[in-house]
Amino acid sequence: MSRPPAAVADGYDRCILVTGGAGFIGSAVCRHLVRGGRTRVINLDKLTYAASLSALAEVEQSPCYRFVQGDIGDRALVGRILAEERVDGVMHLAAESHVDRSIDGPSVFVETNVTGTFHLLEMALDHWRTLTGEAKARFRFHHVSTDEVFGDLPFDSSRFDEASPYRPSSPYSASKAASDHLVRAWHHTYGLPVVLSNCSNNYGPHQFPEKLIPLTIMRAAAGQTLPVYGTGENVRDWLHVEDHARALETVLRCGVVGETYVIGGRTECSNIAVVTRICDLLDSKMPLPDGTPHRALIRMVADRPGHDRRYAIDPSRIERELGWRAEIDFARGLATTVDWYLERARGSAG
Ligand code: NAD
Repeated sequence: MSRPPAAVADGYDRCILVTGGAGFIGSAVCRHLVRGGRTRVINLDKLTYAASLSALAEVEQSPCYRFVQGDIGDRALVGRILAEERVDGVMHLAAESHVDRSIDGPSVFVETNVTGTFHLLEMALDHWRTLTGEAKARFRFHHVSTDEVFGDLPFDSSRFDEASPYRPSSPYSASKAASDHLVRAWHHTYGLPVVLSNCSNNYGPHQFPEKLIPLTIMRAAAGQTLPVYGTGENVRDWLHVEDHARALETVLRCGVVGETYVIGGRTECSNIAVVTRICDLLDSKMPLPDGTPHRALIRMVADRPGHDRRYAIDPSRIERELGWRAEIDFARGLATTVDWYLERARGSAG
């Protein structure tokens, strides 16, 4: 395991292939990298239901950005992009990402998250072997994963860290765990220079409104009932997507090859607390016509099968070793996120 050269940690121009760059987090990564001005970004995305090209409006005209519609499993296409663009880093975010969908139809999760990652690793390895000198030394395959691979925590002070054992509970988390293992194997067996990160729940603009925060905002704005699983006591550790995008660039540029970094916002919050906070924000920003508080719309519904009770991250390592820390406080981030979705809701109503 070797540290990247100092020149790289200081900021060397790179060409990064971002997979899944039209998704919620991938688009934040593309915006962040293009804004930074140091990186050429190639975004490879299949454009599934979860993708949003409007999330990329800010960067689509930039000379250091290129979009390619395609599948990470299309070896010919991936090989062509890696060679033509002389890519010296891959940030792999393409995935099926919704736990409920993985319960209803796990097949595409195995296909994309496991088999797709396998194909991408093979093409990245072939490409890395053709590189020489600085480009070879600089090359990284950054696998972006989730804290859900670590499974269920009790309601106590325990938290996930880089040494936490893998105990995935859902088809989604099992498929992400499998991909994490493949990535580590390609490092240990073939020497591919990889870095991995496992992050907690993200929130922010441009998230497909099937996940808790955008779903709750959009339904509350429309005066619809707000479903909350089980007792609502399940706890998640929330991180603003822009903080995550910054963390991902930090891991790519400065992370130690072969190592993993867990990323989180030190913001544990139960699902019911998140939903009631959104209701209270909506009461002031978009009151219901009859003055009923939005909390009255909350309905407890049958729990998700295998629903993990609690996730929590101890991000000490990335804070200490790479100097990253979350900057967007949850109260402020949630309020701006609510504003963003309300603007959209008003736009589509008007
Ligand atoms: P998302 O569902 O919003 O976006 C996924 C993107 O991948 C979409 O644009 C989709 O079109 C694309 N995609 C899917 N299959 C593809 C394929 N075969 N080839 C090319 N592109 C394909 O997901 P997200 O929430 O942005 O998550 C991105 C990554 O981060 C995932 O790997 C996820 O596991 C991980 N992650 C997400 C969270 C979170 O809270 N959302 C937290 C931690 C880690």
